[in-house]
Amino acid sequence: MTRTVYLNGDWVDETEARVSIFDRGFLFADAIYEVTAVVGGKLVDYAGHAARLKRSLAALDIPMPVSEEALLTLHREIVARNALSDGGVYLQISRGAEDRDFLYSDALRPTFVMFTQARAVLDNPKWKTGIFVVTMPEGRWVNRQIKTVQLLYSSLAKMEAKRQGADDVLFTEDGVITEAGSSNAHIVTKDGTLVTRALSNALLHGITRASILDLARAAQIRVEERGFTVDEAKNAAEVFLTSASAFVMPVVAIDGQPVGNGKPGPLTARIRDLYIEDRLANAI
Ligand code: PLP
Repeated sequence: MTRTVYLNGDWVDETEARVSIFDRGFLFADAIYEVTAVVGGKLVDYAGHAARLKRSLAALDIPMPVSEEALLTLHREIVARNALSDGGVYLQISRGAEDRDFLYSDALRPTFVMFTQARAVLDNPKWKTGIFVVTMPEGRWVNRQIKTVQLLYSSLAKMEAKRQGADDVLFTEDGVITEAGSSNAHIVTKDGTLVTRALSNALLHGITRASILDLARAAQIRVEERGFTVDEAKNAAEVFLTSASAFVMPVVAIDGQPVGNGKPGPLTARIRDLYIEDRLANAI
């Protein structure tokens, strides 16, 4: 069965949806996107994703194509139209289509696309096993706080990680870990402190990151927001990644070296439980 997708105000079958080759999202990665998890037909952490979407658009000076209320209605409608129980809603807004030029005109109207993807969000087999990652030099652009579709380097790095037999990459810069390929990276020190990089333009301001930090603090878990080195990560008690796609993912090896005892750690599991319990209760 094909999906019903949203394209510039219309609901169309996925096989019928067409975007111009002159779309600046296609030609310049001049676009932003969001992914919101859906569990039991409900949107998880929606407010954070909607707020970041507005920030990303404002940063690129792309007008918001619909009102905030309409945006939530569209999210709910696409979930309903596709009878989506578990998975995610992918949304992309580009600056629009016109003949190719680095300079764009005032006449542009954004291209707005949404589609659903079904996935067993709460039944991720890798939560039990953890995943393997390898480190690589950070090579993405400097305004990483904007969630743009400029994902070429990440894609190439993930392909390379796969070639090396790993599931994901940890980007490093000046010896410090910036992020993973498409998630924020965190460590748990041997004394049980959760350490995560402080917010700056050098990393995406993960919605899941913000949520787990709030939940950890509320649960009296010590939290430090500071950079941590590759060595610190390799010698940490636990390492984990956060994203709307995988929530809280344990990392059990870095560059072939086991983290802790090479198994997913207890604080990682606790934080995932806290996240799932709280955010599902508040899913809308
Ligand atoms: N960092 C990067 C580079 C990402 O691509 C993502 C998600 O796609 C994240 C962090 C996690 O952000 P969020 O928790 O909002 O999904």
